[in-house]
Amino acid sequence: MLNRAMDLKGKLQGYRRDFHKFPEVGFQEYRTSARVSDTLTSLGWRVRQNVGKTGVIGEFGSGLPIVAIRADMDALPLQEDNQTGYASQNRGVMHACGHDAHTAILLGVAELIKNEENFPGTVRLLFQPAEEVADVEGFSGAQRMIQDGAMEEGVGMAIALHVSSHVPVGQIQVGWGPSSGGVDTFRAIILGRGGHGARPHETVDPIYLSAHVILALHGIVSRKLNPFDPAVVSIGSIHAGIAENVIPNSVEILGTLRYTLPKVQEQIHKEIKKAFEVAKSLGGNYELKFEIGTPPMINDERAAKLIKQTAVDLIGNENVSLPPDGLGAEDFGCFTQLAPGAMFSLGCRIEGDEREHHNSRFDVNDECLPYGAAILAETALRYLRHGGF
Ligand SMILES: [Zn+2]
Ligand SMILES: [Zn+2]
Repeated sequence: MLNRAMDLKGKLQGYRRDFHKFPEVGFQEYRTSARVSDTLTSLGWRVRQNVGKTGVIGEFGSGLPIVAIRADMDALPLQEDNQTGYASQNRGVMHACGHDAHTAILLGVAELIKNEENFPGTVRLLFQPAEEVADVEGFSGAQRMIQDGAMEEGVGMAIALHVSSHVPVGQIQVGWGPSSGGVDTFRAIILGRGGHGARPHETVDPIYLSAHVILALHGIVSRKLNPFDPAVVSIGSIHAGIAENVIPNSVEILGTLRYTLPKVQEQIHKEIKKAFEVAKSLGGNYELKFEIGTPPMINDERAAKLIKQTAVDLIGNENVSLPPDGLGAEDFGCFTQLAPGAMFSLGCRIEGDEREHHNSRFDVNDECLPYGAAILAETALRYLRHGGF
């Protein structure tokens, strides 16, 4: 399988660089999904378009079991600083997370699978829009695709990969249990009463109130939560005032919270509310709203071990390791709520010039593409031929 994937390297690089050159942000992947649909159709896959707005589903084979393999297709609102021949042609939009590689790899999977002699069951490819963002109603691409039936008819296993610019090419990382953080957003306004900067005693200064609230918010993880439960509360945006001598009426605070356990999510919500109550005891008031985001991604042990064994057989035991812990968000967790599944990290490091994800100089080492395609395709086929786990 790996040899056959290596034969596709040039083709996959072509796909990847084409997607990279013409990036599109979440729910606007019109060109990308048209290319995906055309390629799948030409390879003999059954294609469903406009799934979850701009998503595409391809199917091959028939009946049960069904394996779903997912790739996200969206880029980020970021101006690319690289000077390569395939640098972004769309101003202010860039594939800075590697989703161009994910999309190319999944097209490689389509090619590898269609060349298989018959196998039982169905392979379903999920080309997902908008992993990085949610729409105005708060749903990301995974949630929109699920609403449009992406996981129907009994998906037995869902798998995916994410490239990692910190891991060398030819290596993967896979583990089981919580593998990314659940993420919610909070939006708050601290309400005071503005007035003259020289007469603070006649105002209720919301900036003074917010200082106390911020301390209380930063105390949640360190003073309120069990240190063995991973969690983060971060404030990412504060806005108030326009002049140095005017005390404003209000302060706007936006933040994010991360967790892996539902009970911790509940506790953080309660504690954030309590932190804002401090504004009341100091004479002000507040409005607080939570936006529930994506759940934590939990890697199923059976799915993760199947990926691991497949990778060990294809690339060797020494090239498979456990991932570092982290609370980054990944909406693939929406799929693994509905079927046992797992995501692994695929090394895409550019040796001697390591790039950061979500940075304007991000890029992928294209040598990684065949490894990703081979491991995904082989894992899916092993599952189907075995009739499940
Ligand atoms: Zn990202
Ligand atoms: Zn990503």
